[in-house]
Amino acid sequence: MTDSPPGALRGLSEICFGASPLGAVYGAFAERDGIAAVHTALDLGITCFDVSPYYGRTLAETVLGKALRGTDRSGYLLATKVGRYGDTAFDFSAARVRRSVQESLQRLGTDHIDLIHCHDIEFGDLDQIVEETVPALRELQVAGLVRAVGVTGYPLPALAHVAERVHVDAVLSYCQYTVQDRRLARWRDRFARCGTAVLNAAPLAMGALTSRGPAPWHPAPAEVLDACAAAAELCRSRGEDIARLALQFSVTTGGFATTIVGAAQAEEVRRTLRWIREPLDEDLLHDVEHCLAPARDRGWTSGRPEN
Ligand code: NAD
Repeated sequence: MTDSPPGALRGLSEICFGASPLGAVYGAFAERDGIAAVHTALDLGITCFDVSPYYGRTLAETVLGKALRGTDRSGYLLATKVGRYGDTAFDFSAARVRRSVQESLQRLGTDHIDLIHCHDIEFGDLDQIVEETVPALRELQVAGLVRAVGVTGYPLPALAHVAERVHVDAVLSYCQYTVQDRRLARWRDRFARCGTAVLNAAPLAMGALTSRGPAPWHPAPAEVLDACAAAAELCRSRGEDIARLALQFSVTTGGFATTIVGAAQAEEVRRTLRWIREPLDEDLLHDVEHCLAPARDRGWTSGRPEN
């Protein structure tokens, strides 16, 4: 089953380009390589890009804006976010999110944003998100500056709580429909009843399910990262790449409105699109699942304790 997104989000490609690596979140990159990655994505049929002012403190939006300059704006959807501006800097007030959208439009060099998300709502006051932030974004929608409104975050109960109190067009969940953690699947019906499209981000578990491994800031507990490293080693010993299996698993079995994969290199984009067309090796999947069993569906806490 594939979620069918509401009107403004029709046109989401199976893979959405995740632009957090363009904010140097995964380490330094050459700007020309990042721009080439965006152009490769467009050339290969990716029609959506996800970014945030938070990624690299506006760097990712700036680089993405540069890359998209001169492209056919009707050919892709742009998603960005409001409310998160630093590791501990959050502001979901109506005044700040209105200003934030204007700033993002400038950086991205566009006159509209297709999907505007409240970023990492578990760090805010959920009543404020429902009563103030989403209504302020709906006003911007009426004014034509944004076309759809969503919420992102890690704890699924917080996303569902908001989606059930105020209509949002999309929720973005991350690291919770992967070969290691499948908790998002259990929430699918609840979001469907709200008429909310589900975007599945970070199928590579923010680098933990790659041969390179996670960045030092990865929030998962050591037992989870150790199990992912053991699974990567198992794949390597069979001449396989854990990233290939992880991408194939999330994209071909997930059925979400899109899967958002981060990249700052053209070769990663090419590989991702090639791999998801190749058949999933069920035997390897079985062995990797066995290896990941001690860490299955295990994550971390994020945000305010009450959320
Ligand atoms: P991810 O799981 O997509 O993994 C990204 C890492 O995998 C990067 O280091 C990248 O270089 C590497 N990679 C990409 N393609 C590869 C390939 N084919 N082979 C090997 N390695 C490859 O994690 P992510 O980038 O953090 O998440 C995806 C996107 O989702 C983000 O860029 C962002 O747009 C969005 N996101 C949003 C939130 C939120 O709103 N709270 C949280 C997480 C992610």
